[in-house]
Amino acid sequence: MATVISVPGIAARSLPTPFINEPFVDFTAAENKRAMQAALAEVENQLGREYDLVIGGSRQRTERKILSTNPARPAQIVGVHQQAEADRVQQVVDAAQTAFSSWSRTPAAQRAELLFRAAALIRERKLSFCAWLVYEVGKNWGEADADVGETIDFLEFYGREALRLDRATTPIQFPGERNQLRYLPLGVGAVIPPWNFPFAIMAGMTAAAIVCGNTVILKPSEDAPTIAARFVSLLEEAGLPDGVVNFCPGGGPEFGSALVVHPQVRFIAFTGSKAVGLQIHERGAQPRPGQNFIKRTILEMGGKDAIIVDNDCDLDAAVEGVVASAFGFNGQKCSACSRAIVDARIYNTFCDRLQRRVAKIETGSPVENFYCGPVISEKAYRKVLDYIEIGKGEGVVLNGGSAIKTQDGGYYIAPTVIKDVAPTARIAREEIFGPVLAVLRSQSFDEALSIANDTEYGLTGAIYSNRQENLDRAREEFHVGNLYLNRKCTGAMVGAHPFGGFNMSGTDSKAGGSDYLLLFTQAKSIAEKVRK
Ligand code: NAD
Repeated sequence: MATVISVPGIAARSLPTPFINEPFVDFTAAENKRAMQAALAEVENQLGREYDLVIGGSRQRTERKILSTNPARPAQIVGVHQQAEADRVQQVVDAAQTAFSSWSRTPAAQRAELLFRAAALIRERKLSFCAWLVYEVGKNWGEADADVGETIDFLEFYGREALRLDRATTPIQFPGERNQLRYLPLGVGAVIPPWNFPFAIMAGMTAAAIVCGNTVILKPSEDAPTIAARFVSLLEEAGLPDGVVNFCPGGGPEFGSALVVHPQVRFIAFTGSKAVGLQIHERGAQPRPGQNFIKRTILEMGGKDAIIVDNDCDLDAAVEGVVASAFGFNGQKCSACSRAIVDARIYNTFCDRLQRRVAKIETGSPVENFYCGPVISEKAYRKVLDYIEIGKGEGVVLNGGSAIKTQDGGYYIAPTVIKDVAPTARIAREEIFGPVLAVLRSQSFDEALSIANDTEYGLTGAIYSNRQENLDRAREEFHVGNLYLNRKCTGAMVGAHPFGGFNMSGTDSKAGGSDYLLLFTQAKSIAEKVRK
């Protein structure tokens, strides 16, 4: 719905209603449960289809393919995708460059309208998109709905933000001049998302880039290209002009890396691991022949997030918060709690309650909506199990500690809690990205803060405490980009919790916040002498 708003100095125009977050679906309601089951059945019939590269609007195929499979049933193919190689980079950059000349001049209102139309279409097909996420990355229904809801939020939020930027003025009008500040697009960009929020992060980075007038080469994660392919077709349905988003699955080290260094790629919006982010930072910084700009890199990377449990806190709430943060989507979130730092005075009680609570978590097929599903791939499965073995030598296993075998060969790992872990232990320092929680003991609040901050990362963190002075100290001293007081450290909401981390967690881009679109623009200041 739109209302007509009159802004002084600008002709009255139609502005969208204020932003509100997309509500969550209540899957305990019988009609929603039935509707989700129907969506899963419908999507199951569409598994295994082949998707094309989309370059300048034309569909193309390659010899080599990427197979996206269901991590709960690795033999089930979710989608067959083309595998773009480095030799295709020039063609796709040319297509994006051609589209840039007209898209960059398309009025912001029209570009925002594309995002609003896409949001409306996704909202109409919400459960179908949830079902694709269940099959492609093994999310349970609630996690899938959160991913789809966040996608809608990003589209709605960035559309409004683009309209706001379009109305920007200079803070001061200098006497005798007419002063203007215009936010121009940067050019052709590479969008390189991870697999764990394969809809929201992929669509969010893409939408932010294009709504500012840039054109994009979208290289989805090899583990989740299908949801990205379906998003690109939906954008086309919403009116996306050819070449504005070019869809090119390909290997990260080959195609992704070739995009990063291409002299006409003006910016790279990346979310993923620290190792790859640092590589993009370094390689993107070197100018290549024919390049006449400094590449901009927007890099959001890993985490080793901690929750501090103070001795004076609501212990049940703390246990619930730690469990939700550590085991929601099997700990495969950059914001996941992988360290619980617990005050020595309540340590034993906390561990007992934690152990009982985690024992109740049920692991099984995401299609049947078990709380914990599989980890994403065989590679992740082996990596997480290796860390569990390391952890067995670094502490005492409270829960889990092994794989769960199923007939379908899904990559299931039991939710694992290891207590009595030293701050120097590898499982307390390295990002595991799976259902593994280390519990550490602190002798004082000072020590808890110092352990929490003793990491190369700085993404999310939380503290459970009833002492206002400790909450206030955390505000000042807990060095993370997203701090939560008396609540879990996952589940950032667009608009309310702009998201991005400190230190090796990235460039603190604050996705879903008012500063985010600036990263995809360059501001031009124009002063015109007023004629007498
Ligand atoms: P990843 O780094 O392995 O891959 C991310 C993307 O980079 C993929 O599309 C991949 O194909 C591509 N890539 C790989 N090598 C490349 C190269 N050399 N050049 C260019 N592109 C390359 O990460 P992942 O396993 O997909 O995702 C998990 C990681 O993402 C975790 O570390 C997690 O913490 C992080 N993450 C961070 C945030 C955040 O907002 N900070 C959000 C989600 C995930």
